[in-house]
Amino acid sequence: MSASVKALAGRLFIGGEWRPASGNSTFAVDDPGNGETITEVADGTVADGIAAVDAAAAAAQDWAATPPRERGEILRRAWELLMAQRDDIARLIAQESGKALSADALGEVDYGAEFLRWFSEEACRGTGTYVTAPGGAYNIIKQLQPVGISVLITPWNFPLAMATRKIGPALAAGCPVVLKPASATPLTSFAMADLFAQAGVPDGVVNVVTTRSTGDVVGAMLADERVRKLSFTGSTEVGRGLLRDAAQNVLKTSMELGGNAPFVVAEDADMETALDSAMVAKLRNGGQACTAANRFIVHANRVDEFCDGFAARLAEVTVGYALDEGTQLGAMISEEALDGILELVQDATARGATVVHGGERIERAGSFMQPTLLRDVPADARCMREEIFGPVAPVATFETFDEAIELANDTEFGLVSFIQTSDLATGLEFADRIESGMVGINRGVVSDPAAPFGGWKQSGLGREGGHEGLLEYLETKYVAVTW
Ligand code: NAP
Repeated sequence: MSASVKALAGRLFIGGEWRPASGNSTFAVDDPGNGETITEVADGTVADGIAAVDAAAAAAQDWAATPPRERGEILRRAWELLMAQRDDIARLIAQESGKALSADALGEVDYGAEFLRWFSEEACRGTGTYVTAPGGAYNIIKQLQPVGISVLITPWNFPLAMATRKIGPALAAGCPVVLKPASATPLTSFAMADLFAQAGVPDGVVNVVTTRSTGDVVGAMLADERVRKLSFTGSTEVGRGLLRDAAQNVLKTSMELGGNAPFVVAEDADMETALDSAMVAKLRNGGQACTAANRFIVHANRVDEFCDGFAARLAEVTVGYALDEGTQLGAMISEEALDGILELVQDATARGATVVHGGERIERAGSFMQPTLLRDVPADARCMREEIFGPVAPVATFETFDEAIELANDTEFGLVSFIQTSDLATGLEFADRIESGMVGINRGVVSDPAAPFGGWKQSGLGREGGHEGLLEYLETKYVAVTW
């Protein structure tokens, strides 16, 4: 960790100032790759959360009135600064999250930075319309205005990208923000706050509050009538509770929640492409991604070939400490998370699944899991119904396309779905019939800052990225005009 981040870590960033938490207490951030404490960070209180809302309120009017081009140029500078610090920020992400530096953390910086560049370009596109009313008696103006103070809550699995995916559009739209990063991975947010200040973001427009009293601090901010927007990325369970809290003041909400992505391998799939895609869909971020393939649904005539190829590839994966050269799969975020993944494997085998590869924790310091392949996994196994959030690939089979669709849609989640097929018509029919916000055809990853990311069903509300991401921070106003 760089000296500058270490110096900032014990403080909150409020109104352009780095200050200790009002209670002066701190909490430890550990490296999941060795269990050692990296540093202590400020444990913000309810008073700190409200102070951050005060700072955002003081900055709101001027920021909303700042010309969109100027806001865009500040975001563009933030993108340039982030790319200039690419290696340092990636190392910080790798250390606090356990993800492999070269395989995952550098990619996260590229992906996360791109939201700043994309929304620097979108800042000028919060455009309304002006039309004559159908009856001809007056005119209809539709204008878009910043929604106002936005509380942003992010998860630990992409400490940078989940923040830039919210801060980018909020700033582009003219909204000040209070960011509450995950307690497991708050350090990247401090580096980000520093970088936004260097890029010229005015005091109070970006505030960062870390806390272990998460529910109390967030609850107090959401109860403050000056706050108008909540954007949350995290588990469906926490998201449900936050939707209830947000209902109190009828906040505009964006919810990016959990997933349970099906990965269908059709009978006509090109097996090399399917296996390449499966590796990315399962192992990116160690499987700790909302978009990770959670259930592999493979045509019965191709399942032996698929499992043989997948197991051979998993056997080649280098598991190790995030910062070590050559590491492809880093540590799971915590011992608790690792125990949860192992329970899912035990549950599946107890119900009749076979372990083709892996299945165990790796005995060394830190929370490491073997990349794992299970086959003949029954539909009622917990790993088919719940988010695995680890490098475990359960495989089931199907005979007909209708059956594949039925299995794929058999979940309360609906974030992303994947299909491997040589026939584009099959792929597009799958896309038509699948109940998810995103579909990957012959791919293992779909995320792109220029595309609307988001889920159906209990995977969420709203979209991040694309033009839609900007609209999440804008209110529509209709003006009827006669003159
Ligand atoms: P989580 O436990 O739901 O936590 C997410 C954030 O919510 C953290 O900042 C956490 O703070 C905060 N939080 C927890 N309880 C809260 C409460 N009562 N009130 C207010 N805030 C609260 O999720 P996670 O374990 O960090 O992340 C993994 C989950 O995120 C998975 O389900 C994954 O699918 C989902 N995710 C979804 C997307 C998407 O785009 N759809 C992207 C990435 C991840 P503390 O850390 O302080 O507890």
